[in-house]
Amino acid sequence: MAVGHLINSFLLVEIVKGMALTLKYALFQPRVTINYPYEKGPLSPRFRGEHALRRYPSGEERCIACKLCEAICPALAITIESEPREDGSRRATRYDIDMTKCIYCGLCQEACPVDAIVEGPNFEFATETREELFYNKDKLLENGDRWEAQIAANLIKDAPYR
Ligand code: SF4
Ligand code: SF4
Repeated sequence: MAVGHLINSFLLVEIVKGMALTLKYALFQPRVTINYPYEKGPLSPRFRGEHALRRYPSGEERCIACKLCEAICPALAITIESEPREDGSRRATRYDIDMTKCIYCGLCQEACPVDAIVEGPNFEFATETREELFYNKDKLLENGDRWEAQIAANLIKDAPYR
């Protein structure tokens, strides 16, 4: 036993085995890693990423300031203020989300009767300061404008399961 162990050590058998395994996976097996951020993996239509406020195709904001999302948010991350417009419709004058509090539970999206607040597909929104994660209405609407095509497509894909 001791002699066999000595021969194995002398011939570097374990290192050769390791190198053979490495070469086998490097040359003959399909790659399981991706070259992020240049390549990205698939995302579920239900992925809960960065929040966005959506508009109707006319450009009108969807949010009617019902405050259901604010009430249901378990992290107390949402703050909404509203005022009636001249035409009598109610719209949010302030819609803030403190993204440092958010736990990405998706309850705001579930509660919204008009699909206004959603968690979109964007997961690349890391910042250098906390302040940049205090989102206001302008920022959320900007996110909605930027991601609307993907958000709408994801909602259609998920609709049969709701
Ligand atoms: S995802 Fe959850 S924690 Fe985050 S804002 Fe919505 S309800 Fe609040
Ligand atoms: S985002 Fe939806 S749930 Fe929240 S206040 Fe606006 S309409 Fe109501």
